[in-house]
Amino acid sequence: MMKKQLILTLLLSVICFTANAQFDKYFESGALRMDYLHAGDNTHETYYFSNISHETYWAGNKSNVIDSKEYGTQLVKIFDVKSGKLIFSRGHCTLFNEWLFTNEASTSRRAFRESIQFPTPKNKVRVEIYKRNKKGNFIKGFSQIIDPKKYDIAPAKIDFKTIDLEYHGHFSKKLDIVLLAEGYDATQYDLFVADCKKYVEDIFSFSPYKERRKDFNIRAVWTPSKDSGVTIPGENIWRNTAFGGRFYTFDSERYFTIEDYTEVCMVAGSVPYDAIYILGNTLKYGGGGIYNFYAIGSARNKELAGEVHVHEMGHSICGLTDEYAANGVTNEMYNSKVEPWEENITTLADFKKKEIWNSLLSKNIDIPTQLNEKTENKVAVFEGAGYSEKGVYRPKKNCMMRAFDGSGLFCPICKEAINRTIDRYTK
Ligand SMILES: [Zn+2]
Repeated sequence: MMKKQLILTLLLSVICFTANAQFDKYFESGALRMDYLHAGDNTHETYYFSNISHETYWAGNKSNVIDSKEYGTQLVKIFDVKSGKLIFSRGHCTLFNEWLFTNEASTSRRAFRESIQFPTPKNKVRVEIYKRNKKGNFIKGFSQIIDPKKYDIAPAKIDFKTIDLEYHGHFSKKLDIVLLAEGYDATQYDLFVADCKKYVEDIFSFSPYKERRKDFNIRAVWTPSKDSGVTIPGENIWRNTAFGGRFYTFDSERYFTIEDYTEVCMVAGSVPYDAIYILGNTLKYGGGGIYNFYAIGSARNKELAGEVHVHEMGHSICGLTDEYAANGVTNEMYNSKVEPWEENITTLADFKKKEIWNSLLSKNIDIPTQLNEKTENKVAVFEGAGYSEKGVYRPKKNCMMRAFDGSGLFCPICKEAINRTIDRYTK
């Protein structure tokens, strides 16, 4: 037994050493942040390069630089120019891609500021950005050569107070969350720190975060706003805040977002981070979470702040989608002929692709499954999910990605997807 364990440990060390050597061949310490405009309407989509800067930290896992999952609506690929080798990739979603589903996107064009961050390459690279089309395939939309040695790449301007909240080890082997302050005025530093500490205790009260606490580091960056509180256009409340966040995004009252992602990234780079969470100084219930982009939630909502935080992190860190159905809506978001990339819903176009779901599916269950007394506690395939009453299916009667029923439980598929995401940052 001991001998077997020793061999396994040695084998893992060799794999890890090889992966790190591979990383060190192409990258040095720190990161590059590329800022660009993501623009267009629901028929055309384009990218305009804006700026590049050197950042102090790259917090990612050195043995996991190629994204094997490719979740998201966008995919960034970095190629070493000399060898042509793919040396980095990462999937993500954007607020712009959500805006494309609004009526406004059929009549007008808009541009959103976005950024991507990747480990500093040693040599010239080609950055490519791909967009997932309606058939689910990635199509190239942007390509640019970047020479990291070029004299005019400025160091990122970082001059913010930072706070260590939770530390369990080096950032390359932890999932590092950075908390940013939105709507706290200069006198409210102590309130922000108290809200950060509450966030930490809140998220680690939910499974599986609870069991994985030692896999996280959490730091905060103090970003005071001119005004206290956040903008709520539907209530005629306007505030001058650090990031200009607002409720009523795309006419949805509880959808709280920040449009300028570049501004968010500039500040987040003050510390090593894999994921960004913005605490809004408001009592109003709401939030938003976009995969490998950011999540935001009310820090001060008394009853449900913790639920909102882990729900939004389901989107922003793990790429899970909403399992609820909007009343009377029939599948606008998901093409019924294409299997969605999210682990926790299916259109049944290609259900066998859902490896986690299939491995946890209850035995002898009908697909799709009728929801009744016999099936309500099973892992099944229930209709109604992904904002649609028909044609999109979820794994369980309820889950934290559907409704907060007081149980605080994610369905087994979401739980496993969260665990596997944490593994990709830490193993
Ligand atoms: Zn779920």
